[in-house]
Formats: sequence, structure tokens, C-alpha cells
Amino acid sequence: MPVCPGIKRDGGRCTVVVDGSQEYCYQHDPDRSEERRRAASRAGKSKPSRELAGIKRQLQELTDGVLADEVERANAAVCGQLLNVKLRAVEVERKVKETEELEERIEQLEQAQERGGKRWGA
Ligand SMILES: [Zn+2]
Repeated sequence: MPVCPGIKRDGGRCTVVVDGSQEYCYQHDPDRSEERRRAASRAGKSKPSRELAGIKRQLQELTDGVLADEVERANAAVCGQLLNVKLRAVEVERKVKETEELEERIEQLEQAQERGGKRWGA
């Protein structure tokens, strides 16, 4: 079985076995560097948690505003409903991203498994 010709970060030769259709493993394939970069940046910056902090801040401001008699109760109620909708959208977005990342990882595992000549359940 051919082995990936890539060089690891520690300077050693990569030991991942690749099948005939691919020269490099996922980590070392120059054609997939953009794909790796996207996956890394997706994991790095967590947009949902930033948005969540913003929603909590707005809710606190509304609460303070109502208690200080500076925000109309009716306005606060509508804003609260809208923020609740936004909160749900953030949660849905987070779940979609999570599922996409899991699918990507499963795909990588399956590819690695196939390269090793074995299959799930075999
Ligand atoms: Zn490699």
C-alpha cells in the first residue's frame, strides 16, 4: 500500500496509507488545503456564542430600562419576543453547524478506514 509523501509538523514522514486514487492523505493533500483552512476557521471563531452574549446583554438592558421606567413595557415586550426568535435562530444555526462538522469528521474517518483496507462492520 502506498504511503502519503507528506511531511509531519515534527519533520517526520507521514505514515498514513493512501489508496491508488490519492497521493496524499487529507492533512497533506495540497488540493484540500482550502478545505482544511475552512474547517479550522469554522471551529475557531464561534459566532453563535458571540451572538448569544449580545442577546443576553440586550435582554438585560431591556430589563433595566423597564425597571428604571425608561423603556415602555409594550416596547420591551415586543423586543423580548423578537430576541426570543433570534435566540432560536442562533440555536438552529449552531445545530446545523454541529451536524455538518460531525458529518465531515465521519467522512474523514470512513476514508481513513477504507485506506486501511477495512470497512465498518466488516
Ligand atoms: Zn499525510
